Amino acid sequence: MKTPTTKLTVLNDQLVSCRLCPRLVSHREAIGEIQRRAYRGEQYWSKPVPGFGDPKGRLLILGLAPGAHGANRTGRIFTGDRSGEFLYRALHQAGFANQPHSISRKDGLQLFDAYITSPVHCVPPDNKPLREEILTCRPYLSRELALMPQVRVIVVLGRIALDSYLSVLQDKGSIKSRAPFRFAHGASFRPVTPGPLVLASYHPSQQNTSTKKLTANMLREIFEQARHFLAEPDVYSISA
Ligand code: SF4
Repeated sequence: MKTPTTKLTVLNDQLVSCRLCPRLVSHREAIGEIQRRAYRGEQYWSKPVPGFGDPKGRLLILGLAPGAHGANRTGRIFTGDRSGEFLYRALHQAGFANQPHSISRKDGLQLFDAYITSPVHCVPPDNKPLREEILTCRPYLSRELALMPQVRVIVVLGRIALDSYLSVLQDKGSIKSRAPFRFAHGASFRPVTPGPLVLASYHPSQQNTSTKKLTANMLREIFEQARHFLAEPDVYSISA
């Protein structure tokens, strides 16, 4: 019988050959052909980017979509761009990663008790997936969540991540409405009891970090809070 971890590997193997969104397929491949001058000559990944980390992790981090010259180039989520540097530094400071940098799939990065995925697995133009693309990709998220019943805390990076997670719950009939769960940096709630606690953060996009809307300390504090929630006995006793 296949374990959830094996099933997650199978899911990720299926995911990387997905071509369900024509606009995103063209975009991800075009980026790989045009390339950025700094990476000219590199073989871009230019495929859907699967989740990464510890499949048995109790912390799940939900981003938005791969970066054009980050994950879409390297093939690993939040790897090879400024957003990733920002995120993994905070995860390392909070003890969820063995190193602060994330440069390539072969850089030795390991996550401890944490897994990262995204509601959209292909790079969208201008970092803005269309509503139908988010909907088309949602079954992958739904399946990932079902294969990680041990998750106790979900850090949602941005409104789309929160909305996507709540939509999975709504599709399953676990919640009636998403309205009571408003996005705000630092907000936390438990949409379903028993179920994972959700902790919201601004996304570490360059737009947010260069304007200091999200600082390194703010993101570090989010993951320290996540660690604190994971240590609480009532969180341990909850099943998804
Ligand atoms: Fe497939 Fe998701 Fe990529 Fe659309 S965004 S092509 S559903 S992996």
